[in-house]
This record gives sequence, structure tokens and C-alpha cells, in this order.
Amino acid sequence: MSEPIPLAKPVIGEAEEQAVLEVLRSGQLSLGPRVPAFEQAFAERVGAAHASAVSSGTAGLQLALRAVGVRDGDEVVTSPLSFVASANVCVMERARPVFADIDPVTLTLDPAAAAAAVTDRTTALLPVHIFGYPAAIEPLEALGLPIVEDACEALGARYADGTPVGGRGHAAVFGFYANKQMTTGEGGMVTVGDVAVKHQIDSERNQGRAPDMDWLDHDRLGFNFRLSDIACALGIAQLGRLDEMIAGRARVAALYYEGLAGIDGLALPCADQGEARRGWFVFVVQLPLEFDRDDTIRALAELGIQSKPYLPAIHLMAYYREQFGHREGEFPVCETVAAQSIALPFFPEMTSAQVERVCAALRETLGQT
Ligand SMILES: *Cc1c(COP(=O)(O)O)cnc(C)c1O
Repeated sequence: MSEPIPLAKPVIGEAEEQAVLEVLRSGQLSLGPRVPAFEQAFAERVGAAHASAVSSGTAGLQLALRAVGVRDGDEVVTSPLSFVASANVCVMERARPVFADIDPVTLTLDPAAAAAAVTDRTTALLPVHIFGYPAAIEPLEALGLPIVEDACEALGARYADGTPVGGRGHAAVFGFYANKQMTTGEGGMVTVGDVAVKHQIDSERNQGRAPDMDWLDHDRLGFNFRLSDIACALGIAQLGRLDEMIAGRARVAALYYEGLAGIDGLALPCADQGEARRGWFVFVVQLPLEFDRDDTIRALAELGIQSKPYLPAIHLMAYYREQFGHREGEFPVCETVAAQSIALPFFPEMTSAQVERVCAALRETLGQT
């Protein structure tokens, strides 16, 4: 059998090596000049007024919820089809994640379902631009609540009005884990429109210290959610090749659409609607209903193809069932999608031969060669 095809693979070259080496040689490994440089370059990239670099996407989501005013006992309306982090951060802040079902086409929060889930305890909405597809943001804005956007999968995406995700003034959170559109190993970025929100995030990522304060003086409680200069230097180098990496993913997506066309019952990622643009992150397909997701993943693995359930419904995870009493049947669209969805290998440097192998393996597994 030829070499197994991995799910994801970062693009790291000489620019990244050089950038990291420079920081190592500079002797200033944290709280140095690369942090604001990375923040400014990133904010510019997505058309945001401000940005704050943080230690992970999860840390960014948690700080963003705090900064928009989510407190103990509040409710946050969010999507059950997401990476578990977007719900976990609500629980970490002692707020209740209130799930609302998703749109069957875009797989993002259904605005009507979100509206129906709002109560007088709701203090924020947390839509997720899942699989890089922008959530319908305008009808959510019409609900008049603070919004924290989980944009961890959506760098490069555009909202329905054609503007870049992250530039709308809400707190929008990006993630730089190694499988994302760009990586700093671990890391994240929160873009905001309001400088006061940035100041609170910057303080809380650094033990509650105000920027002009002596290091022993702290006027609020905080975390250590800082991003190192090493990571920020890597981030700046990755921004320099972001267009090329995004184009690489788009090229691979086009090859998949071609290679997987016409398979009965297989649902491919939805096409862009209107001016909205997906920021390609993963290539997720929904298997025909008669095929078991986990059996299919095992069969693909035997053919040397990595794939994984992507994503399982959050409300049906053990912790959420036990803690919040969730059961099957609450969010039927999400549950059906989650039960049949798998992510296929997808990375900027994937060759057409590799895509062909994945497509052939999937056709064979589904009995449609
Ligand atoms: C990657 C991701 C995050 C954040 O992940 P970290 O590993 O904390 O950087 C959050 N939400 C979604 C939907 C993600 O895909």
C-alpha cells in the first residue's frame, strides 16, 4: 500500500524557520515587539480595528465572552455543531450554553432557531462559522445582543455582504492550531471594533494587569493566556503566505468536488450563497444515510486514508448529557448531520494524485466505483 494520506499538514518553510530563529537569537521570547506586530498585521488582514493575540482559540473565546459582559448564570445561545470549545468556554464562565439547531444547508446557527432560544437571561450569541462557512450574521445582529463569533475555522471567509469575517466589530475569534488555515503551533487571535474590549482582553490575558501598570500591581483578576514572541513571529511569517495557502485549499476543494461528483446520497459542502465566501478549512462530507460513519472511517483507514468524525453533536457528548440533561432528538438537523459527517484529508499542498486516491477509496467504501 502507498503511504497513508494524513488529515492535515501545515505549510512551514524557510520564512518560518528564519522568523523563529531571529526571536530565539534576540533573547526576548515573550512580551516583546512581535506581539503587537502580529496583532496589527492580522487586524489589517481582516479589516478589524484591533486584535489581541492569545494562547489558543479557546482562550480567545473565553476572554471574549468575559469582555462582552457574560456573567455567572447567564445564557449564551450557540450552535451544537461545533468543536466542543465553543460550548466549554460558556460553562467555564459559569454561563449556560443554550443550543439552537442549525441550517441544513450551511450547517451554521439557524437564525430563527436562535431567536426562539433567546430568553431574558440571554446575554450573548455565539455563532460558529463552521467548516469555514460564514454564519448568517445580519439576522443574528437584529436580535440586539452582544455577539462573539467563533471564527476559528473561518480565516479568509466573507459574510453575506462580501466583507471579511472578523471585521464586523463584534469580537471574532480565530485559532492557530496546526490544522488551521495558518498556524502558530498553538495560538489564537481576537479581533474587535471597540478599543475598550481590546483593553480588557489584553489585561485578562496577562493576570489582570493594565498596560501602564507596574508588574506587581493588578486591578482585576486575570489568566496567563499570552502568546509568545516565538509564536507571533511564526504567525507573521504565516500571514505572509496566507493567500497562497488559502488558494491551495481552494484548489484541493475543487478537485474533491470533481472527484466526488455523482455519488448517490453523498452530500458535499454547500456552495457559496450570494456574496458569502467559505474560508476553506476542512472538506467534510455527509455519508449516505445507510452507511455507518465509524465503519466507513475504519474502511478508509484500511485503504491508507485518514478521516475522522467531524463534528459530533456537542449536546450528545457525555459531559453535556450528564450536566445539562441533553438527549437525542432535541436538535434533529444537527444530529442527522453530525451522525453522517466525516472530514477527509485536506491541506494546501495535497496533490491531485492524493485527492484521486481519497476519492477512489471513498467510492470503493460506498460501493459506487
Ligand atoms: C479550532 C477551533 C477552536 C479553538 O481551538 P484551539 O485548539 O483552542 O485553538 C474553537 N472552535 C472551533 C470551531 C474550532 O475549530
